[in-house]
Amino acid sequence: MDSFVEEVLLEHKDIVDICNRLGKELTADYQDKRPILVGLLKGSIPFLAELIKHIKCDLEIDFMQASSYEGTKSKGTVMVLKDLITPVIGRHLLIVEDIVDTGFTLQEVMNLLQDRGAASIEVVTLLDKPAGRKVDVTPKYIGKTIPNKFVIGFGLDYNEIYRNLDYVGVLKESVYKK
Ligand code: 5GP
Repeated sequence: MDSFVEEVLLEHKDIVDICNRLGKELTADYQDKRPILVGLLKGSIPFLAELIKHIKCDLEIDFMQASSYEGTKSKGTVMVLKDLITPVIGRHLLIVEDIVDTGFTLQEVMNLLQDRGAASIEVVTLLDKPAGRKVDVTPKYIGKTIPNKFVIGFGLDYNEIYRNLDYVGVLKESVYKK
């Protein structure tokens, strides 16, 4: 195990299994809907890349970047740093998240996309931390529910590093409490 990791929560093969399960559900639910998968940058990229391999229907992808985090803490205010290119009016949207914690990011992004006239908006997240929730949002599709710990890997960063790990682990407190 890497020296900065306290515990591995998902091995790479677990992530592939999760994407396979979610892909089957999404294939059934989105046949003939040609959804737009809205990847929230940057953390969703590895998850989105694995997930789409398991969805067997027509789909499009686009990306948004919304930020509320500094280090390991949510600031509670969300800024849109990069917007979608695709018009969403009348379209079925599937927001792809790495992790849902407070829910601030999702709430903000969902409100914005709703205002633009999307036909439907659902959320697929690799990880859910319900104990951290501060607003009432519930992702429809969840890879794994995890305890309220700061995790890294498979897209998830600490100060922009560790996104390239092929697994998800809990970051040792000693790395950020110096
Ligand atoms: P929320 O707005 O729900 O609090 O947080 C959503 C975003 O915060 C995620 O997309 C992710 O970028 C970041 N985040 C939340 N919890 C964690 C965590 O445990 N580890 C890392 N690396 N990022 C997190």
